[in-house]
Amino acid sequence: MDAPIGVLALQGGYAAHEAALADLGLATRRVRVPADLAGLGGLVFPGGESTTHLKLIHRFDLWGPLDAFVRSGAPIFCTCAGMILAAREVVHPAQESFGWIDLKVARNAWGRQVHSFEDVADAPLPGDEAPLPLLFIRAPRIEAVGPAAEVMATVKGEPILARQANVWAASFHPELTADRRLHRRIFGA
Ligand code: GLN
Repeated sequence: MDAPIGVLALQGGYAAHEAALADLGLATRRVRVPADLAGLGGLVFPGGESTTHLKLIHRFDLWGPLDAFVRSGAPIFCTCAGMILAAREVVHPAQESFGWIDLKVARNAWGRQVHSFEDVADAPLPGDEAPLPLLFIRAPRIEAVGPAAEVMATVKGEPILARQANVWAASFHPELTADRRLHRRIFGA
């Protein structure tokens, strides 16, 4: 059997990612303590509150083990708060982050919860012409893309999906739409 895909399950929208991965026939495992990382084939960092994620990551001694797992090269998908954790630099306000992807991101920069919105990517995924449905919930904005990261999709000229080697980061929530192309592309289902 294929190695399960881990979903960081400390807080936030992990259940929707589990459902998305299950739609693709992939086994999943909730990650809450370092031992949960053993033998995983990939890992999802879901949306939620990045400040709360950080607090719980430290409380459960997950910082080092998560960092080592991501840097080992397994496929990683970070959505919304997950993208904030993964970024090289976080502003509005500044906070600690892992620096797995060469992005500068501003938190809550697309507006408050009531301003959460849906859109369609102007630039669909490379090699795939069908537009990508986008759902933004108090989303971070990618303010700068460094040379190590590659923009994978944009809306109104702004990057909303980026990749650096094994790490993908989205400011929106593909797990909350019916479109499974991103999970499929990243985890190879
Ligand atoms: N606003 C959240 C944060 O700053 C992210 C929102 C989300 O993950 N939907 O962490």
